[in-house]
Amino acid sequence: KLMVCIDISFLNHFLSFSQEKFACLDETKLNIFPASKAEHLKALEKLGVPVPFFFVVPYAQLLFFKDLQEGLLKLQSESGKVWNDKNSGEHGLFVSVRSSFSVSMPGMLDSLLNVGLTFGHALEGNQEYLWRNYIKLMCNYGELVEKIDKNRFPKISEHATQQEALKFEKIFEQYAGHPFPQDSNEQLIKAFLMVKNSWENPRAKIYRFHENIVYSSGVDVIVQMMVFGNLDRLSGTGIVFTRNPSTGKKELFGEYSIQAQGEDLVSGVTTPGPIALLENELPHAYQTLKDLSEKIEDFFMDMQDIEFTIEKEKLWILQTRPGKRTKIAELNILLQYVEEGRLNMKEAFQRLSLKGLEQLHHPYLESLEGLEILGKGLGVSPGAVSGVLATCKETVDFFVKEGKNVIFAAQETHCDDIASILKASGVITSTGGMTCHGAVVTRGLGKPCVTSVQGLQVCQHSVIFSNRTFLEGDFITIDGTTGEIWKGIGILTTPTECPNLKKFLDFAQHHNAIKIYVNADTSQDWQSAAPFLPHGIGLCRSEHMFFQDTHLPWFQAWILGIQKEKSSVIIRDLQEEDYKNLFRLLRGKRLTVRLLDPPLHEFLPSSLEAEKILAQKLEISVDVIKQIASELREKNPMLGKRGARLGLTRPEIYDLQIHALFKASEHVYKEGISVNLGIMIPFVMTPEEFVFIKNRIFQSSLQYNLSGIDWNVGVMIEVPSAAIQASFFAQEADFICFGTNDLTQMTLGISRDDTAGVIKHYQSVGIFSQDPFQSIHQSSVGKIISFACESIFKVNPNFPLSVCGEHGGDPESIKFFYSLGIREISCSAYRITQAKLSGAKVTL
Ligand code: PEP
Ligand code: MG
Repeated sequence: KLMVCIDISFLNHFLSFSQEKFACLDETKLNIFPASKAEHLKALEKLGVPVPFFFVVPYAQLLFFKDLQEGLLKLQSESGKVWNDKNSGEHGLFVSVRSSFSVSMPGMLDSLLNVGLTFGHALEGNQEYLWRNYIKLMCNYGELVEKIDKNRFPKISEHATQQEALKFEKIFEQYAGHPFPQDSNEQLIKAFLMVKNSWENPRAKIYRFHENIVYSSGVDVIVQMMVFGNLDRLSGTGIVFTRNPSTGKKELFGEYSIQAQGEDLVSGVTTPGPIALLENELPHAYQTLKDLSEKIEDFFMDMQDIEFTIEKEKLWILQTRPGKRTKIAELNILLQYVEEGRLNMKEAFQRLSLKGLEQLHHPYLESLEGLEILGKGLGVSPGAVSGVLATCKETVDFFVKEGKNVIFAAQETHCDDIASILKASGVITSTGGMTCHGAVVTRGLGKPCVTSVQGLQVCQHSVIFSNRTFLEGDFITIDGTTGEIWKGIGILTTPTECPNLKKFLDFAQHHNAIKIYVNADTSQDWQSAAPFLPHGIGLCRSEHMFFQDTHLPWFQAWILGIQKEKSSVIIRDLQEEDYKNLFRLLRGKRLTVRLLDPPLHEFLPSSLEAEKILAQKLEISVDVIKQIASELREKNPMLGKRGARLGLTRPEIYDLQIHALFKASEHVYKEGISVNLGIMIPFVMTPEEFVFIKNRIFQSSLQYNLSGIDWNVGVMIEVPSAAIQASFFAQEADFICFGTNDLTQMTLGISRDDTAGVIKHYQSVGIFSQDPFQSIHQSSVGKIISFACESIFKVNPNFPLSVCGEHGGDPESIKFFYSLGIREISCSAYRITQAKLSGAKVTL
């Protein structure tokens, strides 16, 4: 016996990674049942479903030819067919060689059909389908194994013949440098290695990256007896979903083709018809398919996507896997299961994947027809919108006045872009990640935003997408859910209320263990958040009030020291009005105001044009602005004079905010409205800083009649130094809130604003399994928070702890925070639903 040892160097590569077979972080992909294609097949076999005989070679197994031979012996005895014997003709054993991975990666990995078929078999059987399949094998093998450009092979004629096969053999030999192997074993070994190695092909890598599949393993290989859907008019192939994947409706949904193989369907060689028509063509096979689909769905207890082949009217199931579905379909199917008594509400709720729930609140693209893709970036604030491009405040204003939707494009957004962002319907930027300014603001406003768009260059009054220039006023469509950008106007659908989601929310309401607050900075923000019923405002980034058109020039004047008296009074009064309005809207619900955080230069104009406008407004020279701006500018502003440092070195600013807050509280309370105010100090390094500012706040409070008003002072832990000293803060502060955006930036030492490219790269090679600014990096930032929580609870086991960074909207992170004893979360409005459901999931 010939024993062939296969080159296993590629396996070492896989084995040097984690021992874990796979790690998929998207819970939708973590099936409740056997995960891989092979395991699904084994389950089908046990269930008595007709599955063509197969065997599996696990990915980590060092392969010797004897393993394949043993498998082939098994297939031969099960099928009664003979392997590698030309005289057997059409009765020979032929196989498909496919990949099997724990997560479905449709079309990403290579596979080969008809393996084992040789010229001799086709000649002996001498039937058209054998010649066709032989030729197809040559083409596919040529392309995938020998890397021959597939265009070298002509189209296979409608009636394949021996002559044609000889023609293809010549082409194969010409480009491969050797004849097409006539030994079935050789074909099989090469096909096997090809499937294994396809794990590393670029599209598979991109898909894994996109789906958050950690790079730590390879694929198993399934070798399966071929059944031929292209044998005659009593044969065919198709794919069905056991329920409608768009709506969830209970119906067999899919398509099929008579006299075709699966790959003909995929490559468009044949145009399939709707599955219902199969009932007329092959009624017996149709009925079997219907019965088996029900049986399979019942068994897996989930909607299935089933691939089948009919050979001479006999139905075979080739594959089943959980069907991909829309969020609406997912909700509907789960509730149908509850109605059908298969699941109780708790089980249905546990199965509900929280990923993508935001879809339900935002307009989405109904069709991509007529749209041309221009680029892709990070979808940081969900929803789709079409509008005209604008690159500066003036054109945004101009188009908005014309009644148009505007997509504001910027290299990156600055704080003084807020006016444009507020007026625009969507935002795109060349740089920035999940927690950059534009992302945070747009999420709060519920406007679509795509950052880090590859190939995007924003110029004055024009925008370049990978060498194509668009002018302001040109229409584009953006999808902040997927991060895609198209040319032209898309057809959008705005979801109406989703009663099925409400059913889950009502259920979650009774089990929720976490109070969900909203990050909202203005009355407008609160009004858009209110329908999601948050407990109150957990983070009001007070600087965003200063960025409003009405406030900014006065605050800029104050920073520049122009009309200081007048500007500080105006600013204080404006702030007082802002807070009064918020207290009135909140009616006793919690308002947590974070005192000013960003470095002051962020409030000054960032372009010459904007400097000129301000200079004119304040009747000063541009040079004065430039001079002061340069004095304020810092080399490392995120580590500079911001947060508590600002409050200590320029105490007038915090005084002004505190007075506005107390005055507003006093006033509104007199109107008969309850006030519940939290004052929060950002970016604190040491307890001494906090004590200093807290004392000043208490001094100020003495000037007001605050009896009956519920107010207290807390601290944000955003700097590792503060986390390490958490027990001291627990003795001094009334509450502590983890600002996980900055804490992530400071702990990992990676910028939250302009390192999206690095993070993407790290994800693609498996250094990060997730973007640490989206899902908490448990082994670093998580450890620091855990340490802080433990030390705080030692001081007071009931100390009020919360999180208000973007991680507050992420189900995985919420689960983690809950495990540490954190019971309050604040997140942006459109993530409240997801956070509420996560808050209930942790208890079940
Ligand atoms: C944080 O750092 O987590 C936070 C909430 O503050 P900001 O995002 O405004 O810096
Ligand atoms: Mg912060």
